[in-house]
Amino acid sequence: MAKSSKNIQIAAVAVIAVVAIAAIGIVLMGGLGADDKSALEKIKDQGKLVVGTSAGFPPFEMLNTSAAGGVEGIDMDVAKAIADALDVELEIKNYDDFSVLITALQNGKIDMVIAGMTITDDRNESATFSMPYYKADQALVVLKSNTDILSTADLAGKVVAVNTGTTGQYYIEDNLPDVGEMKPYGTASDTFQALSGNKVDAVIIDSPVAANYISDTNPYKIVETIETNEFYGIAMSKNNSEDLVTEVNKILEDLIDSGEMEKIISKWSQA
Ligand code: GLN
Repeated sequence: MAKSSKNIQIAAVAVIAVVAIAAIGIVLMGGLGADDKSALEKIKDQGKLVVGTSAGFPPFEMLNTSAAGGVEGIDMDVAKAIADALDVELEIKNYDDFSVLITALQNGKIDMVIAGMTITDDRNESATFSMPYYKADQALVVLKSNTDILSTADLAGKVVAVNTGTTGQYYIEDNLPDVGEMKPYGTASDTFQALSGNKVDAVIIDSPVAANYISDTNPYKIVETIETNEFYGIAMSKNNSEDLVTEVNKILEDLIDSGEMEKIISKWSQA
């Protein structure tokens, strides 16, 4: 009698222990089903949208300490519009190097990339893109004082600056084998500094960004627009993101249809 009641006690303690360990496990995992949350649910639950960008790409993203999040421009207005529509806070994470953005997205450090990012087949392998929101080409830029580079045909043996991991770099790799040296820089603004500092002979960069650098007081000129027909999209994770992509596309469509996108673009583009 005493022995069997002892056995029952031991069994009860064992059951309680198993349940307790399971409960601790669930708490440590962040709640039941935490891993099954969709990208949109995750953003809504945390009450904020974390957008990754790489400033130094005017007029899409420029550093400005007095701007919310420290970055301003077309893309940041679009980011704010998306956060507002989702009814969450916006957090901007700025990266000094455009080429790390997709990895940051894959590692879950950011919810989306809004960085004048061209939708390409390669990038489609590692991210899901929204509908396109802007069309761009590439441009060949040299110093106003330069008289020997009139087009990409004159780049043989020349040193050309690009923004690392961008479509400008891929254009040279795929189409301009005679370029003497391609120098990669973290941001577009770094490429223009290299040009004005005579470290390179030319820059190949997205056409709207090139246009932004052209002014009476700046030493640059565009000598050729290379029609690459690129479309910028917002990159999101491939993981459980169908609802987020659908929502972002709806928001973009609204921005475009209402004329708000046009307003944002002309607000930041030079006359
Ligand atoms: N549109 C180009 C690309 O996606 C450049 C983007 C950028 O430098 N921010 O590669």
